[in-house]
Amino acid sequence: MNYEAFHQRSVTDMEGFWGEQAGLIHWHKPPQQILDFSQPPFRKWFVGGETNLCYNAVDRHLAARAEQAALVCISTETEQTRSYSYAQLHREVNAVAAAFAALGVGKGDRVVIYMPMIAEAIISMLACARLGAVHSVVFGGFAAPNLAVRIDDAKPALLVTADAGMRNGKPVPYKHLVDEACQLAKFPPRHVLIANRGLDQAMPLTAGRDLDFASLCAEYADADVPVTWVESNEPSYILYTSGTTGTPKGVQRDTGGYCVALAASMKYVYNANPGETMFTTSDIGWVVGHSYIVYGPLIHGMTTICYEGMPTRPDAGIWWKIVEDYQVTTMFSSPTAVRVLKKQDPEYLRKYDLSSLRYLFLAGEPLDEPTSRWISDALGVPVIDHYWQTETGWAMLTYLPGVELKPNRFGSPGFANYGFNIRVINEATGADAEPNEKGVLVVVPPLPPGCLSTVWGNDERFVKSYFSQFKELLYTSSDWAVRDDDGYFFILGRTDDVINVAGHRLGTREIEEAVQAHSAVAEVAVVGIADQLKGQEAIVFATLKDPSRVETTDGRAQLEKEVLAKVVEQLGPVARPKHVYFVNALPKTRSGKLLRRSIQALAEGRDPGDLSTLDDPNSLDEVRRAVHQG
Ligand code: AMP
Repeated sequence: MNYEAFHQRSVTDMEGFWGEQAGLIHWHKPPQQILDFSQPPFRKWFVGGETNLCYNAVDRHLAARAEQAALVCISTETEQTRSYSYAQLHREVNAVAAAFAALGVGKGDRVVIYMPMIAEAIISMLACARLGAVHSVVFGGFAAPNLAVRIDDAKPALLVTADAGMRNGKPVPYKHLVDEACQLAKFPPRHVLIANRGLDQAMPLTAGRDLDFASLCAEYADADVPVTWVESNEPSYILYTSGTTGTPKGVQRDTGGYCVALAASMKYVYNANPGETMFTTSDIGWVVGHSYIVYGPLIHGMTTICYEGMPTRPDAGIWWKIVEDYQVTTMFSSPTAVRVLKKQDPEYLRKYDLSSLRYLFLAGEPLDEPTSRWISDALGVPVIDHYWQTETGWAMLTYLPGVELKPNRFGSPGFANYGFNIRVINEATGADAEPNEKGVLVVVPPLPPGCLSTVWGNDERFVKSYFSQFKELLYTSSDWAVRDDDGYFFILGRTDDVINVAGHRLGTREIEEAVQAHSAVAEVAVVGIADQLKGQEAIVFATLKDPSRVETTDGRAQLEKEVLAKVVEQLGPVARPKHVYFVNALPKTRSGKLLRRSIQALAEGRDPGDLSTLDDPNSLDEVRRAVHQG
């Protein structure tokens, strides 16, 4: 197939194109209308069609694949592997769905899932889908206040958790943080269901609210829960993501559009076949985990691998051992993970038979050329950088091995994916950027199936955050990009105050608010600076109410420790900044706006750029001095 023709049709004959793709999934009732774009920027795909994500991911495969492994959960933390055939997964999902229903969870109700990478987490997601309930998975690295904000936004009927996770051989509390979050939340759930792994013996229980996952589900071991068919545009899940304000945005995903988008992507983007094995090293708390640990591979009848552990434990060969053991054909990881492995002995890559592997896909952050070259040479299979966002649910820019694999250009995530009409816009003029001219990457609406339908409970924020940057109605990615003469795109970083640490998206405003919670802090600016391993790291510049506190080295070290602890307490270890610098003044405009881009440039040793609005020139030296002193 020819990429250009394929892409062209997908954006000029959207209804024809997606109408055909709709045939890839099971519809209880076929769609009456492929696309309704009568209220832009909102759009509805497959209107009137009734389907169910769980049915498509599990039940549909029972006829042909009942005995095939559907889900393999490998933990190098607990040294346990649990494997479920499609038939077994079906049984487990039914039992859990029955237990959820017994707790009052029904269609449209929200269920927060705050869990480590264990089978119960994935089974809970599928059980929600079966009931037409809306799950909201919260990444386990987030702290209690962060979880509380998400609970209050989603107002869940049920929260599912575990006693603890494990990281690097040590238990990490979950239930304990859930208790704290429920205390902080205004709308705590009626019930908390706990998968007890025996990792936290001291876990206190709240009578009447807390229930044991295994015992409750055992009561429903033989239950059959009929699938709840939902209209294509009804929500399947909410996934919170950082934006430019302190409050995270609940990305709302539909059902039918998402199911079709994932089914098609397994063919055209991942070039994978039913019966094969996919290993995605992300976490179910992120969008990549939702789409390509859970739903995508299962909808496609593949075996999916869920891995709990580090890429370097027991040694740096563990992922390649998994590839050999399970004959993985399709692997999906992140540039940071590859950079971690690159620092290890390359012998680990040669130790295992990797001949089953056809592709390695990477996403979440820019893929630098040395990393890309290293892993391509080491594996001898195409390494495919593709670009997407929580909002889109699947790739916006990619190479398409299932259509036509164009030659790789290092540093480029390829071309506009089918379904996405992508342009690069000059920020000042709103006109299309010339080839090689930097601009903002946008998508011409309607967004294709799979992308967010709105911000949960806040249509206005959806329109304002994503569709109001330009006069023309365009979805803004908030990423800078260029397109070269041959049509390859390059992503040049965010246009807003969002930073990307090891592929995790963090809002600098959220971190600033957490730092501000320390009573000694007067003002604060958080910026992302380049980091060899993680792509970017957050650093903090803070002025103090009483600067004498940091006159001594000990005083400074102590306060830095306290500020870092504050961030971890408020947001979780995922947001822990690399450094805290104490300064006497922060570069601001005369109207008091922080000059974050100048601060970032100075911190990276670059030119601070346009300073025409700078209020106090001394503040620049303050930043330079602080970074220099380290
Ligand atoms: P998230 O919503 O957490 O997946 O983060 C999305 C952001 O990560 C994008 O807006 C980009 O800034 C960045 N990103 C994702 N994939 C890539 C990629 N392949 N190359 C460069 N940046 C990427």
